[in-house]
Amino acid sequence: MAIVEPVTSTNGHRRLRLESPATREALGEITVNTAAEVRERIAAARKAQPAWEALGFERRAQIMQRALTILLAQQDRFMDVIIGETGRSRMETLMMEMFPACDSLAYYAKNAERLLRDESPSLHLLKTKKLVISYRPLGVVGIITPWNGPFVLSLNPTVQALMAGNAVVLKPSEVTPFSGKLVAELFAEAGLPVDVLSVLEGDGETGAALVEGGVDKISFTGSVATGRKVGEACGRQLIPCTLELGGKNPTIVCRDADIPRAAKGCVSGAFLNAGQFCCATARIYVIDSVADAFIDHVVQYVRSLKQGQSGEFDLGPAIWPRQLEIIERHVNDAIARGAKVLTGGARNRELGELFFQPTVLTDVTDDMLVMREETFGPVVSIVRVPDEAEALRLANQSSYGLAATVWTQDRANALRLSKAIETGHVCMNDCSITYGIHEAPFGGRKQSGLGQVHGPSGLKGYCFAQSIVLERWTIGQEDAWYPYTAQKASGMRKAMQWLFGSRLGRLFT
Ligand code: NAD
Repeated sequence: MAIVEPVTSTNGHRRLRLESPATREALGEITVNTAAEVRERIAAARKAQPAWEALGFERRAQIMQRALTILLAQQDRFMDVIIGETGRSRMETLMMEMFPACDSLAYYAKNAERLLRDESPSLHLLKTKKLVISYRPLGVVGIITPWNGPFVLSLNPTVQALMAGNAVVLKPSEVTPFSGKLVAELFAEAGLPVDVLSVLEGDGETGAALVEGGVDKISFTGSVATGRKVGEACGRQLIPCTLELGGKNPTIVCRDADIPRAAKGCVSGAFLNAGQFCCATARIYVIDSVADAFIDHVVQYVRSLKQGQSGEFDLGPAIWPRQLEIIERHVNDAIARGAKVLTGGARNRELGELFFQPTVLTDVTDDMLVMREETFGPVVSIVRVPDEAEALRLANQSSYGLAATVWTQDRANALRLSKAIETGHVCMNDCSITYGIHEAPFGGRKQSGLGQVHGPSGLKGYCFAQSIVLERWTIGQEDAWYPYTAQKASGMRKAMQWLFGSRLGRLFT
């Protein structure tokens, strides 16, 4: 959804007018929440949180389950809003938003209690004690989300934070605010107590107010530039944050790859959501001996893609005018520096202002913007390499480290290559599907982010792990207590020598 122009309303609030990226028809307006309003919402959430926590996992899960039932029953209504804002196809909306949203609700409703159960690891020393690690909610979690997966990227962290017992204040992107609002509607209908979830309207100013508003954690998904600001603000306030940021994701196509499948997979991986996907395949390194066949297949598949705005189609428009400008700048820079356009390369003006043709480039070099910066559009670059070692070197030559894929029939080789690639996740013979696997920690390395969502560690990130040391049996006076005596010091030396200096003692440490 494109923002046409900010307009000021009579009560002094900024308002933003929005329109469809596909048809440019007006979709409505939002009123930007002020910093004072943000603080009020946080205060209300803080008040509502203890009762929500006290409900316990089972009752919280029942609300997730009700939300799931509503989402399944009203999926078309939800999809209409998301499609209106993104211009995506129905199939892609089902696959990228609806299915993973249902899975998130179902998975955390079923598994959060197990994943956050108290732990009691046995202690190697201090056998008189029992350690209990208890995963306590943080309090109020601020969630800030982007426009490229406007419903699921808002819903999924919200579900995790809520199931862990937190209250949530969510700030969806100003580019797709109505998809973010759906999260509030869904939970209100499912019976979530008032103020446990608040969804704000607004842009960067509102996001910054949320970060500074006194929350206990920020879960941020968005660009590197904004992520850095959010991380700095959280650091200053000493509150935790997770930063899920951008990528310039490499793919390695090995000599033994199933070439037609690899080509088809790379095309899907590159052009999903018209390339507006943080894990989109952007840089393909293909071994020279299979490169001709691979490139032929890629070009053939890309030319068969249907771009459109109604009925059945594969690719929609750029969701945001500013993104289209970036895409165009990257492609023009590549062409000016000698890249070859195998297909695409320009806007698809027949369809509308925001449509860019699916584009395949070769003869690209590392100094081109399209190889260095996130394009976030329907553009993929292919580089021929002599061997896997060179593919790895080039794949890792990036300031980003989000996702990668490898195409080979040899699983051992896939594992070896994956471990050598400096990204948060790697998939073999498939597009980057890790975000859809709730058991898998998801996060970026280098500039692609900080911390992880999903997996047991992601869910635990919405809690603090409290260590509680209980007594198993008492021995009256502890040796380490006062008074300090020469005899106690000598006893401690002997214990130290035996524990850390003898073979028998080492069995205990
Ligand atoms: P963005 O950084 O411009 O905005 C993200 C959110 O931050 C929006 O809600 C925005 O209003 C808010 N914001 C802006 N300035 C802020 C500030 N100073 N303080 C707090 N909040 C502020 O990103 P975008 O253009 O909306 O999204 C695209 C980016 O998101 C791409 O880089 C993409 O790769 C990334 N992304 C990453 C993941 C991931 O999981 N790693 C997933 C999806 C998208």
